[in-house]
Amino acid sequence: MITEAERTALAPYCSGCGKPGGDHAGCRRITDPPRFCVSCGRKLAVQVLPTGYTATCVRCG
Ligand SMILES: [Zn+2]
Ligand SMILES: [Zn+2]
Repeated sequence: MITEAERTALAPYCSGCGKPGGDHAGCRRITDPPRFCVSCGRKLAVQVLPTGYTATCVRCG
């Protein structure tokens, strides 16, 4: 079990802008849902719910 921040740091793609590598500390606020898949960099299908959100990659699931 790792935290969201650790997973983002380890991931090859930025969940805020979808680009790999580099410093993406300012790309995404922690309160925002991720917009891109951290595994493949594709745009996520984000569904915002009253209780939070779900973000699903069409390739990774
Ligand atoms: Zn970024
Ligand atoms: Zn993916």
